[in-house]
Amino acid sequence: MKKLLSLSMVAWAFWGVNVYAADYPNKDKPITIVVPFTAGGPTDRVARDLAEAMRKPLGANLVVENVVGAGGTIGANKTAKAAPDGYTVLLHHIGMATSPALYRKMPYDTLNDFEYLGLINEVPMTLIGRPNLPANNYKELAAWIAQNKGSVNLGNAGLGAASHLCGLLFQSAIQIDMTTVPYKGTAPAMNDLMGGQIDLLCDQTTNTSSQIEAKSVKAFAVTTLKRLSTPALKDLPTLNEAGLKGFEVSIWHGLYAPKGTPPDVLAKLSKALQAALKDPEFIKKEQGLGAVVMTDKRIEGAEHKKFVASEIAKWGPIIKEAGTYAD
Ligand code: ASP
Repeated sequence: MKKLLSLSMVAWAFWGVNVYAADYPNKDKPITIVVPFTAGGPTDRVARDLAEAMRKPLGANLVVENVVGAGGTIGANKTAKAAPDGYTVLLHHIGMATSPALYRKMPYDTLNDFEYLGLINEVPMTLIGRPNLPANNYKELAAWIAQNKGSVNLGNAGLGAASHLCGLLFQSAIQIDMTTVPYKGTAPAMNDLMGGQIDLLCDQTTNTSSQIEAKSVKAFAVTTLKRLSTPALKDLPTLNEAGLKGFEVSIWHGLYAPKGTPPDVLAKLSKALQAALKDPEFIKKEQGLGAVVMTDKRIEGAEHKKFVASEIAKWGPIIKEAGTYAD
């Protein structure tokens, strides 16, 4: 009797999930995209544009919630522990793969606590400085940093952020330690840079290209191996050509659901994501900010997960080697 009862309970639960998935999404219940950094920053920007592009193909509204702090791990953890019902997803960047090497104790397991929905885009980074910094190109900047050893400060969005990774690699490449100033996202870091409160910031072009164009900040270099074609950025040297051989950081963003989200729900979310990635409006917005929308097979969950596993393996040893420099 007991066995019969528990069997029928399992069947009921299974039936319940399926009925639920068939009804998904409920057009009156918004889907929350958790962004683990502040509003107005580059990750937030991708999420808001994506929310708009996914709305039609998914047939539901998507809203952004900024759950900030600890370099993105607080928002990621909140999503990992959220109800796996398709109404909470996470938009995060390369920090998904670098945080495990940076934190002694992680509150979630990157590969096992999420369902992978697909990658979204790749975004280069730029090394920028306060507008009154007395250097006008990378060579002058390198000399200025050397002259001011010990007093140069560098903003970032916390341990595990893309800006943190870039700053860590930069300090390691030039063998000079800087004072790092952590924020909860690079939107407030950008404000302080423009106001001259911090000296340097390395951030995604999705946050920096308009400020570079408006000359609100000084731009010194890009972090990709090739120069960029975006008009505002095309004259910037790469750090590699400026003498930091092999320097390369490119940021990717991906979409995740909590582990255990029903397969039908995941399929609907993935399909809507893939439709958004083909939306000419979305592609145009991203291109204008120097980002490249994903088109290869990593737009699918299985390949996305494989890629993140390979990034964890790639960045772990690099971070450990560079890790003697300031956070
Ligand atoms: N660009 C930030 C980072 O350094 C995050 C953000 O504010 O979007 O990771």
